Amino acid sequence: MRQRALIASAIVTAPPLLVLDEPTTALDATVAAGVLRLLGRLREEGAALLLITHDLGAVARVADRVVVLEGGQVVEEGTTAQVLMTPSHEATRSLIAALPRGPKPQPVSARPDQVVLSARGLRRTYPVPGGKVDAVRDVGLELRRGESLGIVGESGSGKSTLARLLMAAERPDGGEVRLEGQEWSPAPESRRRDRRGRIRLVPQDPLGSMDPRRTVGRILRDAGAIDDDAVSRLLVSVQLDPTVAARMPRSLSGGQRQRVAIARALATDPEVLVLDEPVSALDVQVQAGILDLLAVLQAERSLAMVLVSHDLAVVRRTCDTVAVMSRGEIVEQGPVEAIWASPEHEVTRALLSATGT
Ligand code: ADP
Ligand code: MG
Repeated sequence: MRQRALIASAIVTAPPLLVLDEPTTALDATVAAGVLRLLGRLREEGAALLLITHDLGAVARVADRVVVLEGGQVVEEGTTAQVLMTPSHEATRSLIAALPRGPKPQPVSARPDQVVLSARGLRRTYPVPGGKVDAVRDVGLELRRGESLGIVGESGSGKSTLARLLMAAERPDGGEVRLEGQEWSPAPESRRRDRRGRIRLVPQDPLGSMDPRRTVGRILRDAGAIDDDAVSRLLVSVQLDPTVAARMPRSLSGGQRQRVAIARALATDPEVLVLDEPVSALDVQVQAGILDLLAVLQAERSLAMVLVSHDLAVVRRTCDTVAVMSRGEIVEQGPVEAIWASPEHEVTRALLSATGT
């Protein structure tokens, strides 16, 4: 809604040219499709659009011509069909190759008896002016050792609330979460404290979650009560140079920050990792690097993962199972490939058709 309101305020004067800087990047697939349709209408009405984006799907849908920039220079230029179908420059080819596509390369061989995280009848209601909103309604799920579960759904469907409930960062109004066979959400915080390291969150905004006055090394030492050698090993395991320990978070690139956030979550050697939109702010090539890293970590450590994303291609690439949320409820749940092949719920079909991969 914010993005549409901004576009509305930009078009009230009916300008002949509209410049849009990443207008769909943070939006879920169906909302992004709506914004792109709106842009298409504006174009039909005669407006010229300059669309700046790393989203090649948006380019394919809206643009007549494409210019590819690398290192501040135009390296390729042509009609959209030419550039996307027969790219001539290496930079264009690698942009296209980095798009997430296809299923998870190494599916998990999880045994049904190795449930590490489970939720039953979860419910969370928030008071809002003039009423209440059921952010999460009667949600049940199971996650096995080494398995990755994707949570998808439109903005406001309850994904982040569910993530907070699974972390026991917030108390449910009903139902319960169990971690490694023991009470998790119902237990008092005093009994949860020494198990907090077993389930860790990689938040949506890594920089905002880091103390800007502390070095990366200090942040990682504090997160896991570990020494400098362990910090170096941790940085190497997320494919960063150990010298990054001396840097301040603000001086790192988006991809490096996300790797530090993952390292911080791994500092306590957890069994379960919950990632809230881990790649939504990154361009496709950095995104591909992070997704590959998650696959490696998962295979090496038999990590169980809950990956919240509005991008279905990311979930298909990374997850074994998927839960589709709509208005606080899980409307469809099962193996990723089965749901891809025959989505049953209209929300799933809408998300899939808007994804276009
Ligand atoms: P998603 O992550 O899928 O976008 P959220 O879990 O953030 O969805 O939100 C689900 C619903 O709950 C939305 O309607 C949102 O406005 C509402 N909500 C979330 N957190 C709060 C809160 N702290 N107070 C009031 N309403 C909230
Ligand atoms: Mg969210």
